Amino acid sequence: MSKNVQRYTDSDYLSLDPFADDCERSMVKFSLPTTRKPHPCSFCQKRKRAGTKMFCERGVIDGGFQSTYACLPCLERECDMRDWATRLPTSAVFAVPNV
Ligand SMILES: [Zn+2]
Repeated sequence: MSKNVQRYTDSDYLSLDPFADDCERSMVKFSLPTTRKPHPCSFCQKRKRAGTKMFCERGVIDGGFQSTYACLPCLERECDMRDWATRLPTSAVFAVPNV
């Protein structure tokens, strides 16, 4: 199992808006909580254990209040596709709670 590391900054992840094209949304807020319950990632569909740092989008989505989660490896792939995201040098990569 590979080590779970974070290669971009929290603010990069929070600027991503990875679900922007998905649906009708309002009042959305982004956060990077360490989860207290297991949540599936909306991208890879893998269920992540409680205690995993994940991206969370909360708000009114398609008419109902919802929370949507994404795991860090999927966010990293999204960041790889954006010009503005700053990839941290390997020396600065920091470990995050284990998946
Ligand atoms: Zn994922």
